[in-house]
Amino acid sequence: MSESAASTNPLSRSLTLLINWFDSDFRSEDPAVLRARPDKIEWVRCVPFAILHAGCLGVIWTGWSWFAVGFAIFLYFARMFAVTGFFHRYFSHRTFSTSRAWQFVMAVWGGACVQRGALWWAYTHRHHHAHSDEKEDKHSPRQHGFLWSHIGWITSSKNFPTDYRRIKDLARFPELVFLNRFDTLIPIVFAVAIFFFGLVVGRLFPQLKTGGFQLLVWVFFISTTALFHGTACINSMAHVWGRKRYATGDDSRNSFILSLITLGEGWHNNHHRHMGCVRQGFYWWEIDITYYLLKVLSWTGLIWDLRPVPSDAYDSEKQLPHARRG
Ligand SMILES: [Zn+2]
Ligand SMILES: [Zn+2]
Repeated sequence: MSESAASTNPLSRSLTLLINWFDSDFRSEDPAVLRARPDKIEWVRCVPFAILHAGCLGVIWTGWSWFAVGFAIFLYFARMFAVTGFFHRYFSHRTFSTSRAWQFVMAVWGGACVQRGALWWAYTHRHHHAHSDEKEDKHSPRQHGFLWSHIGWITSSKNFPTDYRRIKDLARFPELVFLNRFDTLIPIVFAVAIFFFGLVVGRLFPQLKTGGFQLLVWVFFISTTALFHGTACINSMAHVWGRKRYATGDDSRNSFILSLITLGEGWHNNHHRHMGCVRQGFYWWEIDITYYLLKVLSWTGLIWDLRPVPSDAYDSEKQLPHARRG
């Protein structure tokens, strides 16, 4: 079948999308052709999102327990830290250094967030910074509307392939490419582990009133769905809602509330101005839990060379008049 025929044949496209759930690097056509295609919601790509959200309704049958709710909240923040500290501040921006072994651990931990592989995440994010709120930006509320920037862009097949040429620094590690290619592997292992953990805890401590299915619903479905929307808020809300300190040419903004739910990523205008530093809250009152945790990790020796905030970030002449202090 010719390339153009493959791209217009809905059956072939749907089949490729299905195979991509198991092998995300499988292609029935040239990725360059795919990337050049216009934005379009792919309904087959919506199925995993629909399952993730529908799974939350399982709570009707499993009910709740303090243990399940507490564990879901804990794993929301433990995995949000992986999104912000590892996928974003390490893989996307390389704002600190680490060993190859800990880099692998960070990619596995991030894999449990069910936001695809570290390499795809870093590629799409670097692309966002290169074209922030311009026409090419994959998730700009200014260009494509709020809903598209929040969730629609992920369903478009043009945004599915990882462009390994844009992340050569990461693509030279075969273990990272493997995790990126088979990006459903860790989420499946995570879900199974949560289920059996719930079974064991339910048997050993019946007073906790929990079990395998209850933990699966609360941790895998509810916590992961919340984690997705919390993260997606930075692509949508943080380019719409909040205050600007720097004239960055894009719509990025700073928001205290978004920083609380994303462990510090809400200082998004700061980040767009100085994306190379590990810290996103530039002042003491700009709470940035991810930075505090990375600082603690650096004391253990697992990570090092945390890139500091450049001194001109505090130069009031470089800040917008309403944001200047003193
Ligand atoms: Zn942004
Ligand atoms: Zn960034």
